[in-house]
Amino acid sequence: MSKVIRTVLGDIDPLESGAANMHDHLIREAGTVEVLMDKDFLMDSAEAAAEELQDFSKYGGKTFLDAQPLGCGRNIQKYIDIANKVPEVQIIASTGFHKGKFYFASHWVNDYSINEMVDLLLGEIYEGIDLNMYNGPFVKRSTARAGVIKAGTGYQVISSLEEKMCRASARAQKATGLLLFTHTQHGTMGHEQLDIFESEGVDLSRVMVGHIDRNPDPNNLISLAKRGATLEFDTPMRIKYHAESVTIDCLRAVIDAGYEDQIVLAGDNGRRSYLKAYGGGPGYAYILEKFVPRLYSEGFDEKIIYKIMVETPRRLLSFENA
Ligand SMILES: [Zn+2]
Repeated sequence: MSKVIRTVLGDIDPLESGAANMHDHLIREAGTVEVLMDKDFLMDSAEAAAEELQDFSKYGGKTFLDAQPLGCGRNIQKYIDIANKVPEVQIIASTGFHKGKFYFASHWVNDYSINEMVDLLLGEIYEGIDLNMYNGPFVKRSTARAGVIKAGTGYQVISSLEEKMCRASARAQKATGLLLFTHTQHGTMGHEQLDIFESEGVDLSRVMVGHIDRNPDPNNLISLAKRGATLEFDTPMRIKYHAESVTIDCLRAVIDAGYEDQIVLAGDNGRRSYLKAYGGGPGYAYILEKFVPRLYSEGFDEKIIYKIMVETPRRLLSFENA
């Protein structure tokens, strides 16, 4: 049995992965909690996503992790169309769950048991992603299968619904060996997420903690890495949160502490105003276009940059296909 990376258009040899954007957003349809909160979250244009991906590819991008899980506006048919339009970029689709606040009280996540939810996740990983996100009554599987599993929590709190969803995602991770990646709100509750995953028997080297540099505290970052998790940095370019120099200092601190193999970078362009194709910026290409050159100019070792952009994403995305 050999390892593969599961993309929207099929499984690939991990050696084909190349430079990766490890958390970003292709599509978010109308009718979700987020879009009702703020129209800026509406990202429904397959053409705009394809245009952005072409730009990402122009700067050397090869692999793109779409972080839209169940119930949050994912549209797998559009992903397949985008993947066919931009075959030079390999798209990885997610299954799993977001933070609890993104689900209406009427959503099935509130009613199903943990193990019922695990079955739904395994269906998306092994059989095909449901075209309608299990909003029923019929399940219609697409040709695309999920290649990563998401879990999410709130700001300084994990609600009982979030704990249930985290446990379902953790059990699906254990059953499949796929990467389990998370949403943290403002970089909080990272350790608490790992506690839940550990209690489910998840190997923390298969976990990527998301948006964790929104809390640019080297102590917190290093303590999470010490437990085996990989840190997903996506705050470069978000000057409204903090200067990029703060992110650079955090990267240095984590590398100096010996955890250079547990860092990845991402764009997390989850608003239309973040994408050039909708008239905003900086877009999917930013990390490769601007931030990686800055790392070189700041004296970061070329081998370490290669690990962050290529080798660690490859290791995380690869799994033994059962
Ligand atoms: Zn995101």
